[in-house]
Amino acid sequence: MSMGRPVLCLFILEDENSEGRAMGLAQRWWLHHSLKSLGARLQKLGSRLILRRGDDARIVKSMVAQTGADHVLWNRRYDPQASERDARLKSDLRSSGITVESFAGQLLHEPSQLKTGAGGPFKVYTPFWRAFSATPEPRPPFAPPRTITPFSAGTESDTLEQWGLAPVNPDWARGFSDAWTPGEAGAAKALDSFIQSGLQNYETGRNMPGSALTSRLSPHLAMGEITPFQVWHATRGALASGFPKPVETFRKELVWREFAYNLLINFPNLATLNFNSTFDHFPWSPRPELERAWKEGRTGYPIVDAGMRQLWQTGWMHNRVRMITASFLIKHLMIDWRVGEKWFWDTLVDACPANNPASWQWVAGSGADAAPYYRIFNPTLQGEKFDADGTYVRKYVPELAGLANSLIHRPWDASTAQLSAAGVILGKNYPHPVVDHLQSRERAMTAYREMRTAA
Ligand code: FAD
Repeated sequence: MSMGRPVLCLFILEDENSEGRAMGLAQRWWLHHSLKSLGARLQKLGSRLILRRGDDARIVKSMVAQTGADHVLWNRRYDPQASERDARLKSDLRSSGITVESFAGQLLHEPSQLKTGAGGPFKVYTPFWRAFSATPEPRPPFAPPRTITPFSAGTESDTLEQWGLAPVNPDWARGFSDAWTPGEAGAAKALDSFIQSGLQNYETGRNMPGSALTSRLSPHLAMGEITPFQVWHATRGALASGFPKPVETFRKELVWREFAYNLLINFPNLATLNFNSTFDHFPWSPRPELERAWKEGRTGYPIVDAGMRQLWQTGWMHNRVRMITASFLIKHLMIDWRVGEKWFWDTLVDACPANNPASWQWVAGSGADAAPYYRIFNPTLQGEKFDADGTYVRKYVPELAGLANSLIHRPWDASTAQLSAAGVILGKNYPHPVVDHLQSRERAMTAYREMRTAA
């Protein structure tokens, strides 16, 4: 959209807002770098990024009064509290004679537009995908502006340093900078590299945590540095070159994100209440020692520990391992899924108000279209299947690196000589399993059966 008029670019940090969910610490690190990059990019285009912190509506209204702006534009947000606030602000501004326009940039389709035949919200993914596929193809992405006419009057801005979003002492996010380049350029590069070398093998590669075959676009998407329209259309080349299957599989994943927003909009308490209330009777219970072992990657199950350490070191975890670690917390340790959801919210750079609770509920079995509760991942077999050569475990659990592939996912089966040759001392430099797989499985199944009887 071009109006040829001066533009004032404003970012508001709303962390003092009590209505919404405060951004997690890992994502605050990302935001710091993302805003730095956006500020630099706007400067190149002849503009400037104004930073303000506090109540969004109050700040926008005061900026409008201060600058005499008669047009306010933004991209729509979809988490229920934010979208309600935006709607209130829109109506307030309009009633003061200001033109307000909001645009779709975060999702391919307005979630409110996709309805079941009966006119209700979708609760199952496959019909959602079918309905999505029957709508016109998502619009092509817009070209970025080449210049921006700056708003000339001086306008005060906070500085990023004042906001203190990135940790300093201790700097627990040191590993993040090696793993990520926040900002639009980093997002474009990640997309390009995925199209060149990940997409063709996505079907199998997306399950292999030791290979870098997924797009790693999630934090860029979560922070609005790239739109799903750009991602969708970038896959068209591969479609034309004869790779329809991986393209479809990948697009289906993108649409899972849309499905999660569809759930969040229709079930705003997705992060706090069981979608399926039968699970209100499930006997979750706090187990602080086990919870800590899980968070710190010290459960004695190598694939679980590798995942939790990848999360801590890089702010991200491969999807397959997210499923394994979540299942382990919920089913082996029988700790409430909300505990895990909160931990991921705080530690993921891609923390998403829709995807995160929807995925946790999916694993727990309490969600819409969820994996059945009785499907309990065996972490050892999952590791052996999806990390057969141990690349992933060796990277994040280096104390096990010397074990043979056949033992790396089950160090407890190694002989004393094998352990000693690999420098592993169970119970000393790597823990014994904190729970027994079969016993935990049985306990979870019993609890599940009792819950169903009680409901
Ligand atoms: P790709 O495989 O390259 O997929 C491309 C994009 O599609 C992703 O960036 C993401 O936007 C979307 N996508 C992929 N898989 C899924 C999925 N299963 N559900 C929904 N959308 C998907 N994703 C988040 O973006 N934020 C979260 O907070 C989040 N929490 C999760 C928690 C749990 C317990 C689980 C099991 C999954 C969670 N996911 C979350 C979904 C998924 O793990 C990530 O989207 C994916 O790992 C991101 O990596 P990628 O960008 O390389 O994905």
